[in-house]
Amino acid sequence: MSVNQHTHAGPPYGQPQPGYQGYQQPAYGGQPLPGVPHTQYGAYNGPMPGYQQPVPPQGSVRALPTSGAPPPASGTSLPSGHQGYSQFGQGDVQNGIPTSTAPMQRPPASQPFLPGSAPAPVSQPSTFQQYGPPPSSVQQLSNHMAGMTIGSTSISAPPPAGLGYGPPTSVPPVSGSFSATGSGLYTPYTASQGPPPPSVPQGLPLAQPPFSGQSVPTQRLPTEVPGFAPPPSSTGIGPSSYPPSTGPHPGPPMSGLHGPPPPTHPPQPGYQMQQNGSFGQVRGPQPNYGGAYPGTPNYGSQPGPPPKRLDPDSIPSPIQVIEDDRSNRGSEPFVTGVRGQVPPLVTTNFLVKDQGNASPRYIRCTSYNIPCTSDMAKQSQVPLAAVIKPLATLPPEEALPYLVDHGESGPVRCNRCKAYMCPFMQFIEGGRRFQCCFCSCVTEVPAHYFQHLDHTGKRVDFYDRPELSLGSYEFLATVDYCKNNKFPSPPAFIFMIDVSYNAVKSGLVRLICEELKSILDYLPREGNMEESAIRVGFVTYNKVLHFYNVKSSLAQPQMMVVSDVADMFVPLLDGFLVNVNESRTVIASLLDQIPEMFADTRETETVFGPVIQAGLEALKAAECAGKLFIFHTSLPIAEAPGKLKNRDDKKLINTDKEKTLFQPQTSFYSNLAKDCVAQGCCVDLFLFPNQYLDVATLGVVTYQTGGSIYKYAYFQLETDQDRFLNDLRRDVQKEVGFDAVMRVRTSTGIRATDFFGAFYMSNTTDVEMAGLDCDKTITVEFKHDDKLSEDSGALLQCALLYTSCAGQRRLRIHNLSLNCCTQLADLYRNCETDTLINYLAKYAYRGVLSSPVKAVRDSLINQCAQILACYRKNCASPSSAGQLILPECMKLLPVYLNCVLKSDVLQPGPEVTTDDRAYIRQLVTSMDVAETNVFFYPRLLPLTKADVDSDSLPAAIRNSEERLSKGDIYLLENGLNIFVWVGVNVQQGLIQNLFGVSSFSQISNTLSTLPVLENPFSKKVRSIIDMLHLQRSRYMKLIIVKQEDKLEMLFKHFLVEDKSLTGGASYVDFLCHMHKEIRQLLS
Ligand SMILES: [Zn+2]
Repeated sequence: MSVNQHTHAGPPYGQPQPGYQGYQQPAYGGQPLPGVPHTQYGAYNGPMPGYQQPVPPQGSVRALPTSGAPPPASGTSLPSGHQGYSQFGQGDVQNGIPTSTAPMQRPPASQPFLPGSAPAPVSQPSTFQQYGPPPSSVQQLSNHMAGMTIGSTSISAPPPAGLGYGPPTSVPPVSGSFSATGSGLYTPYTASQGPPPPSVPQGLPLAQPPFSGQSVPTQRLPTEVPGFAPPPSSTGIGPSSYPPSTGPHPGPPMSGLHGPPPPTHPPQPGYQMQQNGSFGQVRGPQPNYGGAYPGTPNYGSQPGPPPKRLDPDSIPSPIQVIEDDRSNRGSEPFVTGVRGQVPPLVTTNFLVKDQGNASPRYIRCTSYNIPCTSDMAKQSQVPLAAVIKPLATLPPEEALPYLVDHGESGPVRCNRCKAYMCPFMQFIEGGRRFQCCFCSCVTEVPAHYFQHLDHTGKRVDFYDRPELSLGSYEFLATVDYCKNNKFPSPPAFIFMIDVSYNAVKSGLVRLICEELKSILDYLPREGNMEESAIRVGFVTYNKVLHFYNVKSSLAQPQMMVVSDVADMFVPLLDGFLVNVNESRTVIASLLDQIPEMFADTRETETVFGPVIQAGLEALKAAECAGKLFIFHTSLPIAEAPGKLKNRDDKKLINTDKEKTLFQPQTSFYSNLAKDCVAQGCCVDLFLFPNQYLDVATLGVVTYQTGGSIYKYAYFQLETDQDRFLNDLRRDVQKEVGFDAVMRVRTSTGIRATDFFGAFYMSNTTDVEMAGLDCDKTITVEFKHDDKLSEDSGALLQCALLYTSCAGQRRLRIHNLSLNCCTQLADLYRNCETDTLINYLAKYAYRGVLSSPVKAVRDSLINQCAQILACYRKNCASPSSAGQLILPECMKLLPVYLNCVLKSDVLQPGPEVTTDDRAYIRQLVTSMDVAETNVFFYPRLLPLTKADVDSDSLPAAIRNSEERLSKGDIYLLENGLNIFVWVGVNVQQGLIQNLFGVSSFSQISNTLSTLPVLENPFSKKVRSIIDMLHLQRSRYMKLIIVKQEDKLEMLFKHFLVEDKSLTGGASYVDFLCHMHKEIRQLLS
């Protein structure tokens, strides 16, 4: 392997980094795919326009292999410790595409990255300007207003009686997207649509230019658009269905959502009176509505005046926001040279050019402009958080982080805070010292790292060193960064298969063994390595454990049984963990024999704790880190450490004891997890339950070791094997680091205070993960501990120390610079709602461990109301009192928050099991922003509108039943499931083409895949499904839903803008409710 452990340090950018191609991986399903193109390692991006005086790029210089090398002294002597790496072909430096015969393909990125779906280029002078060049403020405002206006028709058309949404004079005439008729729903609004508004809010300064000479991003101007009418006086009768958590209802006017414009309108009945199903589409009765809010009246519970509709088309549309961002920002790369730059949305396909800040694929923030003081932050209630995915997979077009080798001296760091060298360090005294951008301490530049400065004070090797000019890069770690001051051995994978009765009978054991035979050829490899360095071992178990000796010299594998599960030990060392190629025939023989050996088993009981202990002990004995792949089917009730009892009790839902359902029933597994983390033993769990098996307890070790959990309830070979095998293949092959420790450093004024994700923490700063894969995300919250300054901004540096799949110790560094503000408006202008929702969901999902679920929901609602009320109070025009005003960047906060509130963890329906909830809770905790976005607001695509001749997806539509037509077929995906919904009136020809049957009634709803039919529609739909699978980290379950069929209930659960059968509010109702909450805070 190759990665510059030899004498050359700091490879020049222009040169492809041989070997370090980031865990090239075979394609799924074993299909060899073409190698990664050279362009992936293409020359470094060049000078950053956002930084002062760009030094003229000297491509030829940068392309020379020696140009970036530090003084020879740094690397002439090989550290003795490096001898341990000789097996990786030290000096085996080759450029270009590896010649290995193994397929080289990175796994699909979890970020959507669709070829062919990029929007048409827009003619904008700069990629930093979401809405084009700054127009006159009036024009710009009207542009934004068009997107935000709620009930804009109060001007453009006379409102229906009783539907005054605001004083006419305060609403800009808009003929764009949110017309009350709905006819313009998907019409992109443009500045030309509609005359300028009558007034322009003042006092909202633009963001400071982050760097001199850089055009200022002007996107996300505040949108201060009167939406709802000022309230008439109100009787304020009755409690809300969402009890406020801010004290008693003062009974403020609450009926602003209906009635003619307030100035002339007589008092209206209270909030509840207008409900009764009055907003949005009037649909059939939903009798169960309100059930999950026990003890409180629900929206529809009181009699009132005849329903008055608030047109759903007049409220902010997620689809519109997503489409606008795609067309505005998807056509040009996102260049990271500018401080505090808000990236495009996660739903937009864009390329990233690293010019000094980490790509948004690695770090996304709730806000890119953070308040200077803690008082301001508290006032706004906007959480300051970063969602970090340190090993994120990049699209092939983007360069992987460069690996920097400083030889035995290791990376250059600040003497005091130990921050790593990064683009924000300031070199002084002619380059002899540098001042730390995090703590201001001045540190001597080591002799081998010295370099002269140019006339601007920049080192002349600036562009040759990734750590000086890029946001993300890696350092090769020295032995000082290794456990026990010893370089690590390559990791091991141990496959541990439940062979109890259910596992054998369902065909699962045979399936796993068959799959392992081929999957072992696709273990993660580093760079050019011919074969994976990972060793493998095998265990089977029921009430006892069976270890296998698969040493290459054996003719047949040998089994050793350990029946004393109370004191687990590993009965063999030599021959347990082996190289796949060397032991190939013995392993194949073992995998053939296992299903036969247990074919007649009668054993139904299993152990679980001893299985993990066995894997842990094996890794300890081998002195390496690694991963356990445990395939498990049932609640471990056999007598053994970690034995569990069935304590499921759905009666606890909505009681103060509900939290116990999420808590582990014993501390055994968290103690075991601690030991696992200390050893670097990561546990991935594949569960196949036919009944409750206590995911909340079994998942603890997985969760705390950074592992993944998969659940296939009622596993059946025919319907579930594709999904399981795809998940398994991806899980085995994906990039993973071991023995990982992550530390987030911040510049003076803020610090990381809270962490969410799958990891273990033994102190308050270090996030420890036995394993960290490319899909795992850690959300970090920051709090002020001092004042920040607008000039210096705020900096984050995330440093991840880990062992690569070949056993190399590395540091991956991500840097991000943010702006700071003294005006709240700047904060609200630079927020990212998708990231905010990621944080809020994780915060709430952790909250259910310690608080009643209802309290968690209330606190979410309250926090969001405070965020929006603060905006309303401090940033919106005073003339708009009483109207619902949402910040442009947060206009989807209500709809998305409502989806979190309605999710299975916070508001379960009757069909949702306790295990489902624990499972979802665990999954969401490690999700990135793209995953939480689609999980909470699923993507709904009209398949019958797809263009069979193009590669693109049909335009998504809003998640509401009223958007569905009986004559069409739709696809809904949320990252875990894909539903294909078929309307009752779909043309027979379409049914024939897609399902191969002649009528609606013949469509089977037990299909787990669509039949492969040779016609354009079938091909198109299957290609869409394949494309969606590639975008997600898990293989989604396909469910066919026929309209008016029983399964439709399940599908409707995901139409998140509608009222849910479990009591979740519709979007329209929830928006009204948020409005009420906000006004209570303001009154
Ligand atoms: Zn420092």
